[in-house]
Amino acid sequence: MTPLPPGSTIGILGGGQLGRMLSIAAAQLGYRCHIYAPDETSVAAEVAAEFTCAQDDDVASLGGFADCCDVITFEFENVPVAPLAAIADRAPLYPPVAALDVAQNRIAEKTFARAHGGTTAPFAEVTDRESLEKAVDEVGAPAILKTIRMGYDGKGQARIKPGDDLTAHWDSVGHQPCVAEGFVTFSHEFSVILVRGQDGIIGYWDTPHNIHEDGILAQSLVPAPTEIIAQEQAARALAAKMAEAMNYVGVLTCEFFATTDGPVFNEMAPRVHNSGHWTIEGAVTSQFENHIRAICGLPLGDTGLAAEKVEMTNLIGGDADQWQTLLSDPANHLHLYGKGESRPGRKMGHVTKLFF
Ligand code: AMP
Repeated sequence: MTPLPPGSTIGILGGGQLGRMLSIAAAQLGYRCHIYAPDETSVAAEVAAEFTCAQDDDVASLGGFADCCDVITFEFENVPVAPLAAIADRAPLYPPVAALDVAQNRIAEKTFARAHGGTTAPFAEVTDRESLEKAVDEVGAPAILKTIRMGYDGKGQARIKPGDDLTAHWDSVGHQPCVAEGFVTFSHEFSVILVRGQDGIIGYWDTPHNIHEDGILAQSLVPAPTEIIAQEQAARALAAKMAEAMNYVGVLTCEFFATTDGPVFNEMAPRVHNSGHWTIEGAVTSQFENHIRAICGLPLGDTGLAAEKVEMTNLIGGDADQWQTLLSDPANHLHLYGKGESRPGRKMGHVTKLFF
């Protein structure tokens, strides 16, 4: 493991706010970032050295991009896996493709977590209207129907109540392959955010208590309440086992429900995560910096807490219009992602406040 020297180029697949914050952290360490994304406007490309605007399955463009990079990572877990074969021997890719394979498929993800000793919601595969009926009988109602692929921030989901018209739910998810999940009764939601270096050393940030509204993360609060801390060790052990099994390098996030029977694994993100944005000011080393350190083969930075208490609040849709009011509190750290148009449900920025 020879560390990549400063001045090297890091390729990032995906051009959103996570790529933007990764690029900023990389620049601080003297690296150049090259963004690869399909949309002409990219909030990551705005702060990076290079930008290739091309489709995720454009093998020729991917190859050309890889030839310009010393290491490649991704900020978006839904990049198609097959075209990545074109870059496999042209630049190292971290986290490994195996992590994308698991994280892109909700059934593979839950099966993988169970295989490593984790508990998940009861689930059943749904391929048509008929199997939806069977699946709901199996997992019980209420249930949540989620598309197996491409769902995020509550998109591609339907909540099923007892006695609901299943045809309407099946129509609402566009007749796509789905998983029906039994509804988990939980007291809190939390995430394990870890970083694993190329030498296999794992660091964990403090566990945030995550508050969701309408399926979207609204706030992450650290330290978490005792109900979560009591489940932290078991959740971390599962996340570490999964990371080791994938020979993972970089930041990995696993989301959990805290229940009376212990932590229930919900999903994993093989990347930096919204519930870790508080680490930019709230931890000694942020998730973005440690992801860059890990993929470049550098020693990892301290993941310890930098304040007594940290609160991260997402600015969704029109919330970001309040930027002047937010800045009038000198303790607020305001992050705006540079997205032109605010739409309902769109993540426009976040604000972090530290308490000492
Ligand atoms: P997901 O896209 O899986 O992260 O789901 C978005 C949000 O919906 C979660 O953060 C939970 O608040 C809620 N949710 C998802 N799955 C379940 C479940 N099986 N039981 C109860 N709530 C859930």
